[in-house]
This record gives sequence, C-alpha cells and structure tokens, in this order.
Amino acid sequence: MSDPVLRLAGVQKVYKKGEPGEVHVLRGADLSVRRGEIVALVAPSGAGKSTLLHIAGLLDIADAGTVEIAGEALQDKPDRRRTAVRRDSVGFVYQFHHLLPEFTALENIVLPQLANGTARATAEDRARSLLNSVGIGERAGHRPAAMSGGEQQRVAFCRAMANTPKLLLADEPTGNLDPATSDRVFDALVTLVRDTGLSALIATHNLELAGRMDRILRLEDGHLTEA
Ligand code: ADP
Repeated sequence: MSDPVLRLAGVQKVYKKGEPGEVHVLRGADLSVRRGEIVALVAPSGAGKSTLLHIAGLLDIADAGTVEIAGEALQDKPDRRRTAVRRDSVGFVYQFHHLLPEFTALENIVLPQLANGTARATAEDRARSLLNSVGIGERAGHRPAAMSGGEQQRVAFCRAMANTPKLLLADEPTGNLDPATSDRVFDALVTLVRDTGLSALIATHNLELAGRMDRILRLEDGHLTEA
C-alpha cells in the first residue's frame, strides 16, 4: 500500500492553555488519508473540525503529535518549509468562497498559478479546463458578484486545485448553499477530486453527503473514530 498523503498521529490542541476554562479540543487524534481517497470528517459544530483541518493544512500548530504530508513529518519544520509544502501540496476550500471580487472567475484561478511561477498561457489553459470540468466554462469572464452561490463555490474548488495539490482540505464546502444546490455542487467537487486523483478530507455535518465519500471519520471528545 502506498504511503498516506496525510497522516496525523496523537494530535493534541489546547486553547487558552493553563488558563481557567482551557479548551482541550484535540486529545490525541489519529487519521490517515490514502492516495485517491475522499474521507468525510463528521462532527457537531464546535467539536474541532476547523482546528483539525488547520493543523492538517499547516495553518496552525498542534501542541503534540505528528503531522505528515506525503510522508514528510512537518510538525517541527521551520515556517519556510511548512509554507512551501502548504503552497505546493495543499488546496483549501471554505464554507464561504473567499474569491477576489475585482477579478473574474478565470483570473481567480490563474493568479495562484502565476504566484507559483506558472506561465500565464499555461495557467489560463488549466483554469479553463478546471472550469469546464465543474460545468461552468461559460462563466470564465464573470466576476464573483455576477455568479450564483453554487457557481462561486465551484470557482473556489477550481482555485483550490489550481496548483495541482496532493491533498484537498474542505471545511463545510457546501454549508452555505440551499440543499438542492449543495447536492449538485458537492457532486461537482467529488467528480473533480476523482478526475484529478488527489486525496480529500471534507468536513461536513450533512450525513447524506458524508455517505457518498469513501469513508467517514467522526470527531468526538477530541478523538477520531471510523464510523
Ligand atoms: P468546529 O469547526 O467543529 O465548529 P472549531 O475547531 O472551530 O470547531 O472549534 C473547536 C472548539 O475550540 C470550540 O469550542 C471553539 O470555541 C474553540 N476555539 C476555536 N478556536 C479558538 C481560539 N483561537 N481560541 C480559543 N478557543 C478556540
């Protein structure tokens, strides 16, 4: 079996450490996401899903435990290395799209590629191909304000994939959409992930959507268990 793309072992996180009312959010969380796998992370609000995703995506530092991406242990690496791995290997999608309002859909997907050193023509080709694969190729020239919530979120998925990450981390990616739109947009995300063969960890409290992924992990009392 190939090495996992993401591995967490014994991850702990405490907020307000040492103060009265300290919050022990993660108490030794373990997980492994293999290549090509789409894993659901299910928990009620406040259980620590965002904390876990931020630690997995090297945006936050755990108090204890191991965080490996593509076999490299990164919890104690210098910021420079963590930033480089995050930029090259990890894509994020949030509940809100966070697209740049003054740029078109296409530009929102091109800009992170230019920042990574990709030539403009190549970046534009990739952006168009990504937009086509989520069914909104004809919206390439629109700004976010001229698009529906579902379309905006599809653009955000494409932006997350722009630099061909190994791992996609998504925090309630369809949580802002009405149920019918959420369903279709979620399908577009899964298709995109499957087509590119990358691995994904997707937080949701929607059990129906979670059931369409390869595996479900539940976060409860700071631990992860296979559902
Ligand atoms: P979820 O994403 O599952 O809703 P979070 O990871 O956002 O959960 O939060 C988990 C717990 O940690 C909550 O009780 C939250 O209030 C607390 N928390 C999150 N971030 C901070 C912070 N920066 N400082 C203090 N407490 C925090």
